[in-house]
Amino acid sequence: MTNSQLAIKVDVDTDRGTRIGVPNLVNLFKQYNIPATFLFSLGPDNTGRAIKRIFRPGFFKKVARTNVVGMYGLRTLLNGVLLPGPHIGKRNKPILQDVRAQGFEVGIHCYDHIRWQDGLHKMSPRQVFTEFGKARDIFKHIFTDRALTAGAAGWQANAHSLAAYDDAKLLYASDARGTSPFFPRINGVTYKTLQIPTTLPTLDELLGHPDHPEHKLNQYYYSLIEKAPTHVLTIHAEIEGMAKLDWFSDFLQFLQQQQTQFMQLSQWAKSLLTQPKHIPVCDLVEGKVPGRSGTLAVQA
Ligand SMILES: [Zn+2]
Repeated sequence: MTNSQLAIKVDVDTDRGTRIGVPNLVNLFKQYNIPATFLFSLGPDNTGRAIKRIFRPGFFKKVARTNVVGMYGLRTLLNGVLLPGPHIGKRNKPILQDVRAQGFEVGIHCYDHIRWQDGLHKMSPRQVFTEFGKARDIFKHIFTDRALTAGAAGWQANAHSLAAYDDAKLLYASDARGTSPFFPRINGVTYKTLQIPTTLPTLDELLGHPDHPEHKLNQYYYSLIEKAPTHVLTIHAEIEGMAKLDWFSDFLQFLQQQQTQFMQLSQWAKSLLTQPKHIPVCDLVEGKVPGRSGTLAVQA
């Protein structure tokens, strides 16, 4: 038994995940009375362009381990390559609005997932502001008020994206992997927007790893959760909301049996920000995470 608190962040990457995975997760969270934060990809679904990643080291290993085609669907993998990418925000407005109507927190994952994940570090400050601005505009169009949070696609963040967040006056952001909330600093510049990092490995980083057979994942996650009073778990609409929905349902039930408490990220952010002097400043650096190819934003 534990008094640990867990916040769940749902990254929604694709059109298919929005239409199927999101309603599945809303129903599941309602069933267990668990709060969550949904971060949406709001522009075109060009997931198929991820095929380019095949040429990156580590991708083959991941495909072999996790059955990417089975989890994402062939249609999704062709979006933006052989088929024009469907515009997720325009096409699924009622689904997105319903998530908030059901009492969940909503925010920005990205405009174009592939462009952000593969291209952020090549973009000029103006390009980053424009790309994030497009996501903000669609968010406002759908939800009628401005976004208060964002969590970057592929955990890709840099000085330009943090400046864009400060400009958008977000309440907090969740781009990084790390251990506890902090104000991010890059090259000596400290940014104003609180970072609440993801503290736990994602399911796709563990699946297929010989040390983590699926029937032991509950216990493994729980052993990590017990180690600290607060945690953030990032899940994916396309994975925990679809292919691994039954596993995820069992997992939530298991956590409730262990008396794990659930909290919403925005509530946590608000309570932290009542005493901003107690929030440390930490460098945000490029780092590697086991089970994930390339580098991502890591709390130093
Ligand atoms: Zn994503």
